[in-house]
Amino acid sequence: MFEDIPVDVSPMYEGERIRSANMFVELAGPKSMGAELVQVEEDVEDGKIEVIGPELDAMNEGDIHPLGVLIEIQGEHLEKELEGVIERRTHELCNYVKGFMHLNQRDAIWCRVSKEALEAGFKLEHLGKTLSILFKEEFPLIESIAISILTEPAKVEEFVSRAQEEYKKRDSRARELSDEDVDVFYGCVMCQSFAPTHVCVVTPDRTALCGAINWFDCRAAAKMDPEGPIFEIEKGDILDDVKGEYTNVNSVVMEKSQGTVERVFLHSVFEYPHTSCGCFEAVAFYIPELDGIGIVDRDFSGETPLGIPFSAMAGQCSGGKQVEGFTGLSLEYMRSPKFLQADGGFERIVWLPKEIKDSLDDYIPEAIRDKIATEENGSTIKEIRSFLEEKGHPILERIKTTSSEVPEEEVTVEEETPEAWGETELEGLPMAPVAYAPELTVPSSGGVKIIFKNAKVYAEKVIIKKK
Ligand code: SF4
Repeated sequence: MFEDIPVDVSPMYEGERIRSANMFVELAGPKSMGAELVQVEEDVEDGKIEVIGPELDAMNEGDIHPLGVLIEIQGEHLEKELEGVIERRTHELCNYVKGFMHLNQRDAIWCRVSKEALEAGFKLEHLGKTLSILFKEEFPLIESIAISILTEPAKVEEFVSRAQEEYKKRDSRARELSDEDVDVFYGCVMCQSFAPTHVCVVTPDRTALCGAINWFDCRAAAKMDPEGPIFEIEKGDILDDVKGEYTNVNSVVMEKSQGTVERVFLHSVFEYPHTSCGCFEAVAFYIPELDGIGIVDRDFSGETPLGIPFSAMAGQCSGGKQVEGFTGLSLEYMRSPKFLQADGGFERIVWLPKEIKDSLDDYIPEAIRDKIATEENGSTIKEIRSFLEEKGHPILERIKTTSSEVPEEEVTVEEETPEAWGETELEGLPMAPVAYAPELTVPSSGGVKIIFKNAKVYAEKVIIKKK
């Protein structure tokens, strides 16, 4: 079947990483642009493969080029709603090709071709041919398929805008419904190939954390292939409608995570947050010093208020882990009225990248919009605190309230401790952890090492002093 393809094609190559030393070229990614798009069309020339722009043999080692992948499909029973789900498989199927690495989805794709693949004679045309075979094999509803691979910068730019318009249409459709309007949610375990305990729960109010699949997409996918990686989840009884906890969601997640995850709160980062695979568009993270939540997306390259960049944070909470204080999410979920509602929604957000904040202008309540800090207002806890104080962020009220609940005699304030933010002593706050660590190693003697998994640190007293 793949006799014309000069490199091996097999699911065993999924997970292959192409490091810089072994890379011939990089396509799309953070230093360039790119997108992938599946479109159901009426008339598709089956087997047509086109490369528009330079082929691999016209590129130089170490180059970075833009990339567009347009997959046009046709079939009597193919529905428009299936486009998102079929498109999401591009990631997996590209990775079957030995020497080709594909990360992420939609307009966040990031690909690399290895030197060995080039030496074997591999071209982008072969990638197109492989995808056309694999897509037809995976989705028998596809009767005809045509693939265009774009590397010409102007064409890719045009294509990325077109793809973004399509993504917007899909996303806005999902906003028509809310969790209460349906009896059935959907689960997806497509990412279990690299995150074995990860189970996405997709609801009308919570699109999948990869941002590529919404409730309507899942409905179409589960109907097309009830035995596939996307399946129905009857909600069952509501245990907590604010946190978003349902009896049957818990049971299904428990079963599909091989008994690892017992409970899930769909709308909170605390206690039992949604698991995170690694494809999430953004991460919500608790900032204990501010009792607030920050958000960082994968396009943000600076440091977060936790002192680490997105990549390090993603490393700590991905792989299917449920880590209290962290949850992967899609940017679209931030447009949902249920966005982290159990934690206070936007009133609990104290920091997020400016680009994300600007894109959510219509969704962040006006009263709080100017009070949320971005990297332009500060990235350290101290800088953010000053900004929150200056703007009167409601988190200050929250801290005051929780502090005032403490009986007076239990609060000790050392004389030399100024009252200002940045040099405060907090004692007896409600028993919320003051620090989280997915893995904490404690040095010990006797030839053993003690490792705490998902460690939560509680403290009777927290002293914050100016350096
Ligand atoms: Fe499926 Fe979730 Fe992975 Fe998206 S992130 S492909 S919805 S498991």
